[in-house]
Amino acid sequence: MGLAQSQGLPTNEILQLLHAYTNWKNMLKSGYQKDPDFVKKINWPINGYSKVHEILYYTFNEQVRICVPNTPDCNSIIKNTLLDKIHTSLGHAGFTKTLHGLMNNFCWPKMTRDTREYYKTCAACQQAKNSTQKPYGLLHPLPIPSKPLTHLTMDFLALPAIIDHATKIHYSHVWTIVCR
Ligand SMILES: [Zn+2]
Repeated sequence: MGLAQSQGLPTNEILQLLHAYTNWKNMLKSGYQKDPDFVKKINWPINGYSKVHEILYYTFNEQVRICVPNTPDCNSIIKNTLLDKIHTSLGHAGFTKTLHGLMNNFCWPKMTRDTREYYKTCAACQQAKNSTQKPYGLLHPLPIPSKPLTHLTMDFLALPAIIDHATKIHYSHVWTIVCR
């Protein structure tokens, strides 16, 4: 609470997901000590890192993120749960959107790689991607012109040919020009 909360901490919803694994905080806390990169930062938080109740946070662009260490527990339970829940709650979002959803609240090294790996294993997404029929695009009506003579359409209208006997010229079409 307090400091971290006011800086836009992970939403309650995401934390509730983690609460399903009641020991997630302990997993993080003991994980920091085993992660050669995070162990220095938890003991000496500088350059955007901060420590609140023994949890390590990294602040960048005013966004506060929970650091998730690289341990078998954290990888298989916390990271996978986050990837899965964020990806599916965003409606099976694409790789980039899933990554950004994750980056809003969490950080760990190689998050991009992990997200790509996870995305490749999502059966629903891969099936949708392999469909041969591309989704139909939306129809976009033309914008309404703001002043006259900026949007002209033209066409030729075929008519029975007539001959101007004076000039011997055949006239068979009317050129129509319309100002939208
Ligand atoms: Zn998916």
